[in-house]
Amino acid sequence: MKYIGAHVSAAGGVENAPKNAVEIGATAFALFTKNQRQWVAKPLTDKSIEKFKEACEEYGFKHGQILPHDSYLINLGHPEKEPLQKSRNAFIDEMQRCEQLGIDRLNFHPGSHLGKIDEAACLKTIGESINIALDNTKGVIAVIENTAGQGTNLGFKFEQIAEIIDHVEDKSRVGVCIDTCHGFAAGYDFSSEDGYEKVWNDFDSIIGLDFLKGMHLNDAKKELGSRVDRHAPLGKGFIGLEAFERLMIDSRLENIPFILETPESENWGKEIEMLKKFTNS
Ligand SMILES: [Zn+2]
Ligand SMILES: [Zn+2]
Repeated sequence: MKYIGAHVSAAGGVENAPKNAVEIGATAFALFTKNQRQWVAKPLTDKSIEKFKEACEEYGFKHGQILPHDSYLINLGHPEKEPLQKSRNAFIDEMQRCEQLGIDRLNFHPGSHLGKIDEAACLKTIGESINIALDNTKGVIAVIENTAGQGTNLGFKFEQIAEIIDHVEDKSRVGVCIDTCHGFAAGYDFSSEDGYEKVWNDFDSIIGLDFLKGMHLNDAKKELGSRVDRHAPLGKGFIGLEAFERLMIDSRLENIPFILETPESENWGKEIEMLKKFTNS
């Protein structure tokens, strides 16, 4: 089954996200469980948690259909002690929010070395950060998102993601989310048929397909290998529609959330409808 949706608004409370997803025809959704630009947020209220669970029940959203995204401020690979601690605490809070809401996975950007430590040290720090978060929560998978490799962000190569996973003790609670735009920007060519096959063969041999816990579907405004993270609407970038059609009929990619983060959110309903049609093609 292909679950298809978008990163919807949780304005007014997380309990509003499921309905916002249903209104655009989504069978999956992403959300922020707190303001993504602030370090500290009020805890979720019991009422909010209860309403969120009721809404998911009512609209039929289960595990594998909801992929929250953590705050952009968090850097789990921070080279300095104090900011690293701040990031780790915020990440634990994000994981605990998912646990409270009955959500089984949380998507995050791995981290940046900021030019102050080497790549290997940063990847190890990220792995340790994940271990700490897993020790403080139950039942939530930490889902590493591949990056475009902009600036000093790591996680743009499958090898880097595999190295982070290597450092994680409980392999059953770590996963990967592949963002097509980020992948393309990092040099993974989804746009051609051969390129597409190579991407997944590499993913499977370097990381392992079992670790794939979600995808972000975005076309790319910049060319292959640009290392620049600019999302385009599907079919309006350098990746092109055929890649998204291939994804929708790929039997290796089942029962995970496919989340749109494309610009022009007013067209998400149309993009979802198109993707759903592809699944039958
Ligand atoms: Zn993404
Ligand atoms: Zn992006």
